Amino acid sequence: MRTPLVVGNWKMHGTLAEARPLATAIRDGTKRVKGVDVAVCPPFTALAAVGEIVRESSVRLGAQDCHAEPSGAHTGEVSLPMLLELGCAFVIVGHSERRREIGESDAVINGKVHAVLAQGLTPILCVGETGEERRQGLTFTTVEGQLRAGLAGVTPDAITRIVLAYEPVWAIGTGVNATPGQASEVHGYLRGLVSELASKEAAQVIRILYGGSVKPENTGELMAAPDIDGALVGGASLNAQGFLQIVRKAAHAGARGD
Ligand code: PEP
Repeated sequence: MRTPLVVGNWKMHGTLAEARPLATAIRDGTKRVKGVDVAVCPPFTALAAVGEIVRESSVRLGAQDCHAEPSGAHTGEVSLPMLLELGCAFVIVGHSERRREIGESDAVINGKVHAVLAQGLTPILCVGETGEERRQGLTFTTVEGQLRAGLAGVTPDAITRIVLAYEPVWAIGTGVNATPGQASEVHGYLRGLVSELASKEAAQVIRILYGGSVKPENTGELMAAPDIDGALVGGASLNAQGFLQIVRKAAHAGARGD
């Protein structure tokens, strides 16, 4: 059985004055919650401070991006050895905001997936269609292309160490989440592709998170849907009490074995 994973993506939110109390409340609020893995991904500038706060707790630290090279002349970038030093366990790769705003290509994203794995961290590889692609019936074509390109050259063994996130672009930050049925059919499709690209066993092990306007009110039904193994949470992860409700609901769905 796959343990649910709930990841908070704080995006470009969180001065140290904001990040410290948020991280402290999440750390304290998750102390007695069992059966769910939790991670927070603050901005780079807050990683060290948040890392100190969650150290020796069950809350894991993640970064929102990385550079594929270990060092070099890449102004403004952050390398994986730097993230490792701060205690990061996860790195979000290929978030749609970076694909759209920075123009990150599938090839660049694939390079990052390889680099994250090589450093022993866990990539959270994001895929998802735009609203226009969904209207045109291209949802499966889009996510399949992103998944195949993102995992190109990754060994079947290494694929089991990856976390996937299905994040329909039209659902991110809009307040309109995919229905459990819409999300579930894409998750099932992605799991089938993992089976083809790696193995049946890998497809059973890999966790596929849903992201896109997850909030306490919709977590239960989303997490109860087949093949949804947790959530990548943006806006709602900035409120500790709301995020903790999401964590508890994910744990509850996991415990039921849904
Ligand atoms: C995200 O950006 O990863 C995300 C899911 O955002 P939100 O929860 O705000 O839709």
